[in-house]
Amino acid sequence: MKVVVIGAGIGGLVAALRLAHAGLEVTVLERGQRPGGKMRRVPVGETAIDAGPTVFTMRWVFEEIFAECGADLGAHVGLEPAAILARHAWRPGEQLDLHADPDASEAAIAEFAGPRARDGYRRFRARAAEVYATLEGPFIRGERPSPIDLTRQAGLSGLGDLWRIQPFTTLWRALGDYFTDPRLRQLFGRYATYCGSSPFAAPATLMLVAHVESQGVWHVAGGLSRLAGAVAALAGARGAAFRYGTAARGIAVQGGRVVGVDLDDGERLPADAVICNADVAALADGLLGRDAARAAETVPASERSLSAVTFCAQARAAGFPLARHTVFFSGDYAAEFARIRAGHLPDDPTVYVCAQDRSDASAPSDRPERLLCLVNAPARTFSPSEIETCVTTMRRRLSASGLTLSETADPVTTGPAEFAHLFPGSAGALYGRASHGWMASFKRPGARTRIPGLYLAGGSVHPGPGVPMAAQSGRIAADSLLRDRSGARASIRGWIATATSGGTSMP
Ligand SMILES: Cc1cc2nc3c(=O)[nH]c(=O)nc-3n(C[C@H](O)[C@H](O)[C@H](O)COP(=O)(O)OP(=O)(O)OC[C@H]3O[C@@H](n4cnc5c(N)ncnc54)[C@H](O)[C@@H]3O)c2cc1C
Repeated sequence: MKVVVIGAGIGGLVAALRLAHAGLEVTVLERGQRPGGKMRRVPVGETAIDAGPTVFTMRWVFEEIFAECGADLGAHVGLEPAAILARHAWRPGEQLDLHADPDASEAAIAEFAGPRARDGYRRFRARAAEVYATLEGPFIRGERPSPIDLTRQAGLSGLGDLWRIQPFTTLWRALGDYFTDPRLRQLFGRYATYCGSSPFAAPATLMLVAHVESQGVWHVAGGLSRLAGAVAALAGARGAAFRYGTAARGIAVQGGRVVGVDLDDGERLPADAVICNADVAALADGLLGRDAARAAETVPASERSLSAVTFCAQARAAGFPLARHTVFFSGDYAAEFARIRAGHLPDDPTVYVCAQDRSDASAPSDRPERLLCLVNAPARTFSPSEIETCVTTMRRRLSASGLTLSETADPVTTGPAEFAHLFPGSAGALYGRASHGWMASFKRPGARTRIPGLYLAGGSVHPGPGVPMAAQSGRIAADSLLRDRSGARASIRGWIATATSGGTSMP
């Protein structure tokens, strides 16, 4: 069976790995020059900086994926658990670390905001763990459920139970039940942005992201782009062929089912099945042909997730003790998201900084280091001067906590327009559809489409964005394809058995 995977993002790579391991003939087409998609590096001066994901969680997803293919994750990528999950900063002198050790986090919160805040954190942690436990099996691991399927599978028998996962209230509002200190509400509300969403519109269910992070963050040696490379290398070792610098122009459909993929140069690759790892908006908008557009629904601009302005720099960082992951919070979170929602860049942004050369063990040095700074932004095009202003306000936010950056090479700034170009159809939205409102998670398409032979994988597909979730979507897409194939074989066997035994054949 021939399978073509369009896109070497993590969803496509995982699907390719699993299918190649199962013995299928797999070809991966990638318009870029290397694997990883958003898990990318950009050259800055003489070095390269990871410019996409930097926080690696849910390690079990990759452990399982590697094990299912007869490999050991630890033998392919270097992973070191982080003792400090993240450092958070507000006004000068206001700093709070969350730790891998929950007791250490409790002690830090008590010292930062008092014993009631610590008790609130304990209650919040317990609730977030409960939401996660309810949803891991039926939502994260499984094919896309409908709200009714989910209610049944998660054992949510009534409204009271459903209330447990809090889909009908916003994360921001729910956090008020645990924290009176606005800084803590801001800290835990920020987890909504991991799905490209606003804490003021996302359901409280997203508190499960806080649980995920509390279960461990790992430093990946060489950065997360290295993890994508490792998955691609293993897929190659299992027989998948990779064609980089090769864009799919269309998915060929004949007689209602997939028959191949057309390339830019007019070549057609015949395929019995296609896994599309491009943003689903690219499919829906017809970028892969009119026939294939039936497989997905357009995402209205108002429902797109966040984009970002990223700033990659090799710089000397002075005046603030950066951890590997540090968040500098804006003075007014509600105002920041109101501006983003209105389509503007924030004038006082919250800034995430990944100091990629630091681990918990290594003390800050006075050598230039590799830094990724990220500001949330709406998914629309901005003029160069607007982006420049954004970088200025970003620096202002950092310097409010004392941090100054002195670049030793020209930094690289990437805004929504560049992301739109890198990920066609996305309009710069980095996480597919925003998780706003209780229904949003059910609006993401599942792996199977209404076109036989066409499957979807990636962060814009169920179960959602983030490296482990997109990887999970690739796993689900491959499993769906394999199951459909064995179902088809079983019905052919049944047909032959019936026909040869002299019965009527009704395939
Ligand atoms: C700046 C940033 C920070 C992030 N931080 C984190 C983080 O800390 N932790 C985390 O877990 N997640 C994070 N994420 C999210 C995470 O990176 C993504 O959810 C995940 O990597 C998406 O994977 P994907 O499978 O959707 O593929 P993508 O990465 O979207 O890749 C899709 C690939 O398809 C290719 N493609 C598209 N169309 C075609 C075509 N027609 N022909 C050939 N190829 C095509 C593209 O070139 C691309 O390589 C971050 C994302 C960004 C951008």
